[in-house]
Amino acid sequence: MTLSNLERKIIEESIRDIKDFPQEGIIFKDITTLLNNAEAFGVTMNHLYQKYKEYNLDYVAGIDARGFIFGAALAQMLGIGFVPIRKKGKLPYTTISEKYSLEYGFDEVEVHLDAFSAKPNAKVLLIDDLIATGGTANAAVKLINQTGASCVEACFIICLSFLDGYKKLQELTEVYSLVEVK
Ligand code: AMP
Repeated sequence: MTLSNLERKIIEESIRDIKDFPQEGIIFKDITTLLNNAEAFGVTMNHLYQKYKEYNLDYVAGIDARGFIFGAALAQMLGIGFVPIRKKGKLPYTTISEKYSLEYGFDEVEVHLDAFSAKPNAKVLLIDDLIATGGTANAAVKLINQTGASCVEACFIICLSFLDGYKKLQELTEVYSLVEVK
């Protein structure tokens, strides 16, 4: 299920670039302008549905916080459950966690220990809005696999391919993105 050039253009043109946010030198890819554009959001979700309906998935897992928006919508379209992967300290039940390094220091993501347990050897799709260095997604894939489930693919609306984060992630799982920023 390939994205047509027209569909890709509609998605690309709906994403707003914000220069120097949250710090100087960063071009922030703002997807709020994709979400409030019914055509662009519809093209995005319809493509994801058409692609992933063939995968026989058990769950979609989304990364805090923009991954929740795409992930929850997709899970409903596919008729399967949604699992949030959150920043440390937000989930109320027993969690497992995974640290990852940032430019300065560490961050940590968590998932509920039993989040995928209703389906033995669950097949999970991981989703987030964007992959940059890949640190967050790497930690999220490891978490999913540690629960006994299996992350079969990681999907991003945008891949910053000049940062090479996706290459490291490809050692852990399949990687797919709709829009590439070279
Ligand atoms: P990373 O762990 O470096 O791959 O960073 C990925 C996370 O940071 C994702 O959850 C993105 O939403 C966010 N992020 C990183 N860089 C950008 C950017 N240039 N524009 C928008 N979001 C970004």
